[in-house]
Amino acid sequence: MTENGARIVAGGALTRDGALLAARRTRPAGLAGRWELPGGKVEPGETPEEAVVRELREELGVEARVRDRIPGEWALGRGYVLQVWTVRLVSGRPRPLEDHDELRWLPPDRVDEVDWLELDRPAVAEVMRRLRAA
Ligand code: C5P
Repeated sequence: MTENGARIVAGGALTRDGALLAARRTRPAGLAGRWELPGGKVEPGETPEEAVVRELREELGVEARVRDRIPGEWALGRGYVLQVWTVRLVSGRPRPLEDHDELRWLPPDRVDEVDWLELDRPAVAEVMRRLRAA
């Protein structure tokens, strides 16, 4: 939980060769077809960083290591906030195992190729800014 008692949805920004991994959701119906940073709800007893690693393992079948937090948090409603971490791939190749039906590596000049969830957009923009500067 955050200091304000909000529950955290932790997103992972996985980058490789100057591109960011985007994942297309399959559920709920209202969000299906929209693109997001993979991740999910932090479970009781878990840190957000642990949740990112677990979610990327479950959803993408990869082992990842958390790097930095992207500053900011975005209210999702119902007492949840989205926080985002940059992550490094340790092993495996991402596949859409759970909750997603397509993955795409997007370099900064293709960021608008997919329809991102609104609340992911500021964090995605910051990751792309960092990729451009790298
Ligand atoms: O992935 P999960 O269904 O656990 O996420 C809970 C909610 O958090 C979603 O319904 C979605 O509205 C939001 N979310 C988001 N951006 C993400 C991950 C989740 O807006 N990257």
